[in-house]
Amino acid sequence: MSFPSALPLSDVRFEHGFLADRARCVRETSLPRQWDALNDRIPGAERSGCVHNVQVAAGEKPGEFHGLFWQDSDLAKWIEAASYRLAAAPDPALERELDGIIASLAKAQGPDGYLNTYFQLVEPGNRWANLRDAHELYVAGHLIEAGVAHFEATGKRSLLDVVIRLADLVARTFGRGPGQRRGYCGHEEIELALVKLARATGEARFLDLAAYFVDERGQSPNYFEAEARLRGDEKLPWHMHHDGLATLQAATPVRTLTEPVGHAVRMMYLLAAMADLARERPESGLGGACDRLWHAILARHVYVTGGVGSEPYGEKFCEPFDLPPDRAYAETCAAIGVMMAARRMLDRRREGATADAMERALYNNVLAGLSLDGTTYFYVNPLEVIPAVTRRRFECHLVKTQRVPWFGCACCPPNVARLLMSLGYYAYGREADGLTVHLYAGGRVRFVAGGTEVRMAVQTDYPWEETVTFSVAPASPVNFSLRLRVPGWCRSAKFTLNGEQINVAIDSGYACLSRLWQAGDQVTLTLPMPVERVRADPRVAAVAGRVALQRGPIVYCLEEADHGPDLAALVLPSEAAVVARGDPGLLGGCVVLEAAGWRESERDRLYSTGPAPRRPATLRAVPYALWANRGEGEMRVWIRE
Ligand code: ZN
Repeated sequence: MSFPSALPLSDVRFEHGFLADRARCVRETSLPRQWDALNDRIPGAERSGCVHNVQVAAGEKPGEFHGLFWQDSDLAKWIEAASYRLAAAPDPALERELDGIIASLAKAQGPDGYLNTYFQLVEPGNRWANLRDAHELYVAGHLIEAGVAHFEATGKRSLLDVVIRLADLVARTFGRGPGQRRGYCGHEEIELALVKLARATGEARFLDLAAYFVDERGQSPNYFEAEARLRGDEKLPWHMHHDGLATLQAATPVRTLTEPVGHAVRMMYLLAAMADLARERPESGLGGACDRLWHAILARHVYVTGGVGSEPYGEKFCEPFDLPPDRAYAETCAAIGVMMAARRMLDRRREGATADAMERALYNNVLAGLSLDGTTYFYVNPLEVIPAVTRRRFECHLVKTQRVPWFGCACCPPNVARLLMSLGYYAYGREADGLTVHLYAGGRVRFVAGGTEVRMAVQTDYPWEETVTFSVAPASPVNFSLRLRVPGWCRSAKFTLNGEQINVAIDSGYACLSRLWQAGDQVTLTLPMPVERVRADPRVAAVAGRVALQRGPIVYCLEEADHGPDLAALVLPSEAAVVARGDPGLLGGCVVLEAAGWRESERDRLYSTGPAPRRPATLRAVPYALWANRGEGEMRVWIRE
């Protein structure tokens, strides 16, 4: 197994600043509220049924299954998030809740290891009969991730043993051996989960199984076609129209993919697993495919907010450069998938552009998925909203113009929770020769370098402020390398060591400080954050003639709350200075951007030939991640210039 790059979450503390505040909000508000949602205790919210389903399957109460094929995965993701929270600090009440639901899951598990309440309660005769649509292995994957997280947080094997039995059943069922099915899941997830299970248990057989699922995908004869014939099911489901098997990344073997295809979350989870396997098994030849796909995504398929998957119909990747702001789907889970893939790519190769993509996704698309008060969520994250138009234009019921407490298909809320409860994984990378810092947030971290324990405090108000100070305190003087990321948007980073300015070479977006560290050493990194106007490649036709405003990693938007309706009438003159100003009273405290601009007046007819009459208007942009926290209204990221 490869060198473990993740620090234990118990060794990373986020204590102050924007990310710490968002994580605290999840810990104190979102996690308990989500538990209420999973227990069907939020009046007016869509019913989850998750806990109910498990209790019914366990024989603890009568009743019928509620929800979708993959309902169990919402609960699994919440258990994973709650486990990460326990890793950070003890919480006996939360631990008891976890023990209770894990006991029910163990009771619900079949004697052969099978666990999926939908199939156990609704279609017991149809196990593994519809891998294309039924998400059976996807659910298993989320349970496995939960089991690993719970074990690593608490040392308890209660859920780990359940998921090992489940993984063993999957291993007996699927493969190229006699009597086995040569299938794989229509929704990737189990692949990356099995890598985690292999790392947690040291059992290479789980890596073998992950590699089998990735390698078998898209081979011919196509498993999904054969399986559909067996079911007598000739019709493709609606989400596969247009792209067919490519919707599931299953039209061709994964090593032949050169552009991302199909359902965006699936594509990103597949890429995460491919990156894991490329690292664990360099001889697998997956590395080249990973690099090709990842660079294609960054070059042609990612929104300025860091999200992917522009097509609402089937939640898919589109043709290159088709990134319309108003029709953007940009599912919260897909942006989380970008972070998951990016973090794993960074384990293979430290590359600034990869970390930039991870940071962009986090600070913009992912955080927009959660309300400031931590109680409501977006599933879909367009870059431009006119509420009445947006509601009519999208037929998909998951498109909301305001965040909601829960969804009938609630993949995103617990996904945001587990992401924000595991930020330590994304922020830091352990290396054989020291520590790499990928993301900056105020707090403390502990790691071992050269056999010596090192404590490091991080002081910063990033992303609002430009400086980050690291106070390093090894137990005794020790040589190691501290690598600090220099974001791509920063062109003049400065370093001081114990008050003296130093020059540090930057290699692929990371500055490496290698020295004999002593207690009291202090490094300050300054990352100047001028306001920048971002322009898209002209092939992104939908935003031609427009700019997005960005300062540091934060992408901004205009909101109706500051301007009234008709944001399309606002124009930012190309010569206007855009000024950043801290506003501690706004949206929990943030930096806003202001500029003197114009508002075009309405005309007296729909089309006319003269210049538009206009009047001066102050443009005020707020962080996209914080939009829709002041009531329903228009929003737009790309501003006319
Ligand atoms: Zn989702």
